[in-house]
Amino acid sequence: MKASRLLFALSAPLALAACQTGEEPRPAVSAQVPTTPGVVSTADPRATEAGVEILRQGGSATDASIAVMLALTVVEPQSSGIGGGGFFLHHDANGELITIDGRETAPAAAGSDWFLDSEGEPLGYREAVISGRSVGVPGNIALAAEAHAAHGELEWEALFQPAIRLAREGWELTPRFVNFAERVQERAAHQAEGAALFFDDDGNILPAGTRVTNPELAQTLEAIASAGPEHFYEVMAQGLAEHIAANTPGDAAMTPADITGYSATMRDALCGTYRDYLICSMGPPSSGATTVLAILGQLERFDIAGMGADSVTVWHLFAESQRLAYADRELYLADPDFVPVPAQQLVDPVYLAARSELIAPDMRIAEPEAGVPAGVIQAFTDGDEPEEHGTSHFSVADSAGNVVSWTSTIEGPFGSGLIYGGFYLNNELTDFSFRPEVDGAPVANRVEGGKRPRSSMAPTIVFDMDGNPVLTIGAAGGGTIPVQVAKALMGYIDWSLSAQDAIALPMLYSPGDTISLEEDNVVPGLPEGLEALGHTVRTRSLPSKANAVEWSGGRWIGAADPRSEGTSATQ
Ligand code: GLU
Repeated sequence: MKASRLLFALSAPLALAACQTGEEPRPAVSAQVPTTPGVVSTADPRATEAGVEILRQGGSATDASIAVMLALTVVEPQSSGIGGGGFFLHHDANGELITIDGRETAPAAAGSDWFLDSEGEPLGYREAVISGRSVGVPGNIALAAEAHAAHGELEWEALFQPAIRLAREGWELTPRFVNFAERVQERAAHQAEGAALFFDDDGNILPAGTRVTNPELAQTLEAIASAGPEHFYEVMAQGLAEHIAANTPGDAAMTPADITGYSATMRDALCGTYRDYLICSMGPPSSGATTVLAILGQLERFDIAGMGADSVTVWHLFAESQRLAYADRELYLADPDFVPVPAQQLVDPVYLAARSELIAPDMRIAEPEAGVPAGVIQAFTDGDEPEEHGTSHFSVADSAGNVVSWTSTIEGPFGSGLIYGGFYLNNELTDFSFRPEVDGAPVANRVEGGKRPRSSMAPTIVFDMDGNPVLTIGAAGGGTIPVQVAKALMGYIDWSLSAQDAIALPMLYSPGDTISLEEDNVVPGLPEGLEALGHTVRTRSLPSKANAVEWSGGRWIGAADPRSEGTSATQ
């Protein structure tokens, strides 16, 4: 069949019925059945190949994305894997959108003093992270199982084969991996197993290009492949919990029941419009969707397209919009199973239009404060969780028109430093606020047993107004993630850039009082222009790593961040 976009009207109920938007009625949706080959975009060429291999075997976008998540556990162990969690968005060729929340949970024993010392003060970050205390129950295998049950085509076991092969036969360490391992050696080599995998006998990191294997991880993956997710959540539960508990100070720690009781959760996507597009991303416990949609929604009344990408005013507006969006995020975003999160109200167009009025093209907001969306009684206060940079995003489209956007993480580089069964365990719990309350007011994102820490991850799918998916995108980089996605969408939508060029646009990150500009990638004259508007500006390395697949010219095209080792490939 010719490689063109085939559209048909949906006779079934509205395709995006599961999606919450701040605007009614939702845009009409029709489905798209492209007939061109699938595409995979990931942060590592070996993971990209794993995904493509699965597509070539007749696997769906979901199958390919599971193979990618597993391969990244092997080749990019510093960033993500089966020891962590993630969020998954899927749009199928019939027009249905689902999201799966595979976020880690705090053990039942974790209380609001989990990250406080005996004086009631927050622990030092190092002390909090390199410990069983920071480890949440991993969610990625449960997420993969849910996704596979919903949209898998190949056998579960088949999806593990590329990762098992990599772990058994070996892969070459990349410069990026070596750089991370050098910088956070105390985590990478915290336990003997990690040290033995990636360091020589003198404790030096093996140079880039060294071929290494991870037979223990291969064995773990083989067992989960043949016995199913139960192997992870039941057979391994005792040993995993004991390992974490043995590395957790005090008596309260993770138990096998925390692990056997874990489940990934289907949630509604959170959607909103920006100009002529519908943008759907991950709602709470992630702050991804609300922050991306707020940044863009507050910019809607400005002529971003007309002013262009070299305009100081545009980047000032982008900075101001971030400051407002992050003020809301700090106050309101947390696990919706534990605290009321006004997610829908925060992206309501009327609310965003009112917030936008606070932004002036020629003046800086002195102190941005959180707004009060409709129906909200403001009972929470800002938290203080530190920020880190691990994570991997992957985007996949298959030839049947199914689209996946999955961001996967172990939180900081090498997570907690604990390693079990050949994989690093996350430190996701440090995404909670260490302080449970400030001046007597509770923090929404405080630690509670069974709760999921707030995330910044923003796996996103963008639709045209006919409901056709045109872009699937996401990023790694802690708190910068929603900004990377919003910036790329501004480039893609306002300046009609390709996904690749939109990702490559310079980064500007402004969650608070200071604007960070990306080292060696600055719009000429921008620092001076922003300073003239009263901003404090600093230039630093910003951890951008985005991956996307877009529909363009009648086919899927991959895009990978030029700052990363990422690649995309066609089936
Ligand atoms: N754990 C972070 C989050 O969920 C992501 C960490 C990162 O990307 O560096 O938002």
